[in-house]
Amino acid sequence: MRHCNSVFSAQDIWYLLDTDECKNRRLYIADCPICGKKMALYSYCEIKSGNFYEQYFYSGGALRIKEKFKKDITSTMLRFKTKQKMPFGFKYGKNKEIKRNGRIVAIEQYACDFWGNEILVKKLEND
Ligand SMILES: [Zn+2]
Repeated sequence: MRHCNSVFSAQDIWYLLDTDECKNRRLYIADCPICGKKMALYSYCEIKSGNFYEQYFYSGGALRIKEKFKKDITSTMLRFKTKQKMPFGFKYGKNKEIKRNGRIVAIEQYACDFWGNEILVKKLEND
């Protein structure tokens, strides 16, 4: 995240439910280490165009967007960290289809980093 001419990492990341228009929705949350301003960075992929967008919110706007998105949280980085050991610098989620006789019997959701580490987060059985 960026503010006061500096770049810093988020203190928490909220992973949000997809909507009809948007997927890969995330809310990055941090206080600027220079000025202490409360910040939120909303990033999402517009499904129709496939484009990624980012939008910054500050102070009261950051609080309002957090309040608005609270109900859409599927997981958060902090919650995840306290529950289990995670790959270094958790970056993205990946789904693996488990097939038996050509039929998908389960979907495993992994958290992955860019160094090839992954951890099973959730397993969805199909039956
Ligand atoms: Zn600042």
